[in-house]
Amino acid sequence: MNIKNYIMASLLSMGVANGVAQTDNFKYTDERFADLQMLRYKVHGFEDLTLRQKIFIYHLQEAALWGRNILFDQNGLYNLKIREVLETIYTSSKVDKNTDDFKDMETYLKRVWFSNGIHHHYGCEKFVPGFSEKWFREQVKNCKVNIKSAELDEICKAIFKDDYLTKRVNLAEGVDLIKTSACNYYQGVTQEEAEEFYAKQKAEGNPLHPVMYGMNSTLVKKNGKIYEDKWKIGGKYGKYIDKIVENLKLARPYAEDELQKQVIDKLIEYYTGGDLKTFDEYSILWVKNTEPLIDFVNGFIECYGDPLGLKCSWESIVNFKDLEATKRTETLSANAQWFEDHSPVDSRFKKEKVKGITAKVINAAILAGDLYPSTAIGINLPNSDWVRKEHGSKSVTIGNLTDAYNKAAKGNGMLDEFVYSSVEKDLIEKYGDVCDDLHTDLHECLGHGSGKLLDGVDSDSLKAYGSTIEEARADLFALYYLPDAKLVELGLTPNAEAYKASYYSQMMNGLMTQLVRINIGNNIEEAHMRNRALIARWALDHGKKDNVVEMVKKNGKTFVKINDYVRLRNLFGELLAEIQRIKSTGDYEGAKNLVETYGVKIDPELHKEVLDRYAKLNIAPYKGFINPVYEAVCNDKGEIIDVKVTYTEGYAEQMLRYSKNYSF
Ligand code: ZN
Repeated sequence: MNIKNYIMASLLSMGVANGVAQTDNFKYTDERFADLQMLRYKVHGFEDLTLRQKIFIYHLQEAALWGRNILFDQNGLYNLKIREVLETIYTSSKVDKNTDDFKDMETYLKRVWFSNGIHHHYGCEKFVPGFSEKWFREQVKNCKVNIKSAELDEICKAIFKDDYLTKRVNLAEGVDLIKTSACNYYQGVTQEEAEEFYAKQKAEGNPLHPVMYGMNSTLVKKNGKIYEDKWKIGGKYGKYIDKIVENLKLARPYAEDELQKQVIDKLIEYYTGGDLKTFDEYSILWVKNTEPLIDFVNGFIECYGDPLGLKCSWESIVNFKDLEATKRTETLSANAQWFEDHSPVDSRFKKEKVKGITAKVINAAILAGDLYPSTAIGINLPNSDWVRKEHGSKSVTIGNLTDAYNKAAKGNGMLDEFVYSSVEKDLIEKYGDVCDDLHTDLHECLGHGSGKLLDGVDSDSLKAYGSTIEEARADLFALYYLPDAKLVELGLTPNAEAYKASYYSQMMNGLMTQLVRINIGNNIEEAHMRNRALIARWALDHGKKDNVVEMVKKNGKTFVKINDYVRLRNLFGELLAEIQRIKSTGDYEGAKNLVETYGVKIDPELHKEVLDRYAKLNIAPYKGFINPVYEAVCNDKGEIIDVKVTYTEGYAEQMLRYSKNYSF
């Protein structure tokens, strides 16, 4: 599971400081085109790694980059050929680059690079080219592109015919999902045949420890026979997997412990034979391997790209632990009992002995395949249910990507548009990032782990309201403690005022700004968003008689105004106690009442106002990252003596380099 969703809301609440000088000269935002904004991330701490660790990362990122073309092909049969032809025209000196057709083709190519194919990475719909087929065919001739005329006809049809290959993944009911999806995981089979094929495999397999049937193959029907074309050495994508394995072998001697070497060996064994039992064995070793600083994912992982949810797209991330952030969470965990004892909830619902969780924050060193350029900000793997149940999973947040999103959002105009006055704006600019990190740490390390159910209470008793209540509980725990003197004492907050930045953002987001993610007329559905609305609206409502928080109009626009931060903290404490009671006693009616009253419905007038104001800011809805560049410095014997990382490569430059260096 790639955790993609959560960041969006947190972004809007916190990372919106405007006009702040960057703490360094790093440029977090890069070019913008279509509905996309390119960003950069910094690999914090890379310079502090040992040479051995740097070399390990170097080989692993090479292994990561070699899988790019696999994903292009998985996403659609014509993607690689289309990319190749477009790149030839794009880089040719024989093409007039000042025409509208060329500029439209450039945008189209940039979108193809971004989506790893000709369909939108998120919406899955096929791109509509702005350039004409006539112009395209002329350039193909003009540039002497090496392509047979039948093949040219095929890719023209794929690019220009608007009722052909319309969706990459179609999930609409009542039609053959394989036939109506343009992804390239099935050849010549119907949905029914594929389902039958895998139902049979499942029936014959191990019911207790089922492998993930079909995840690493193309299902083909040829001459009436249905079979799997496996993705492995010697099979489909074999030449790319060869290169991946070659680089994994180069990395292996630099692995940080014996178990990590076994992990790599198992992965190579799996890539060699394609046996899914071997993949499960690999996953189990990988889950156990928690000691090393450096870790990586490399393989066929997520199945969102297959309408039947079986076939896994290729992806890779190389990362290492963020020691600074881990230190912060260790401090909180070491004091977990103090926080539990001093929380405002009824003592019957408190844990006598609480163990804090040390959240694992990592820094991404490279993103590849289905994690590039659009990426996840957290990872929770492996995906196999029984492996997760019996052996656990690794769940991490990717700190440097979250950081990059936040930094990039500075100056996007959100603060100017939605914050009441310069007082609140200053607070958010000064303390927003620090408090955001701390809020997350308190939420993850202490909030979710605090409190207990009374004896005999079923953990599922809150049913559909369970996850909203659970998220609200963790958020309120964080909000209640943010102003606490204990945090200043532990050196986690700079001073006794900083928390106000977080309080204002929380209220503004819960009451207003998070609504930008919802279409007019819809309710709030997602649990994190419901929880934020619930907290903010409950506090607004219950603080009314003391005028703690109010919604005010200024120049015809609505703003959130906090009049009494101390009372607001008390309100958060009160709601925390109530939510903990609901959870501990399994009070379904109580949960339903709170969530339905405060967390679901939207005032249509306010919603429209927020959407209109947001639209004027013209913020690109989708973002993705340009990778850093790693360069191995070698001595005359060819041994690596240093690895340098740079961040100046342009988007098109990077994509063209990848196409050239990691293709055949
Ligand atoms: Zn949570």
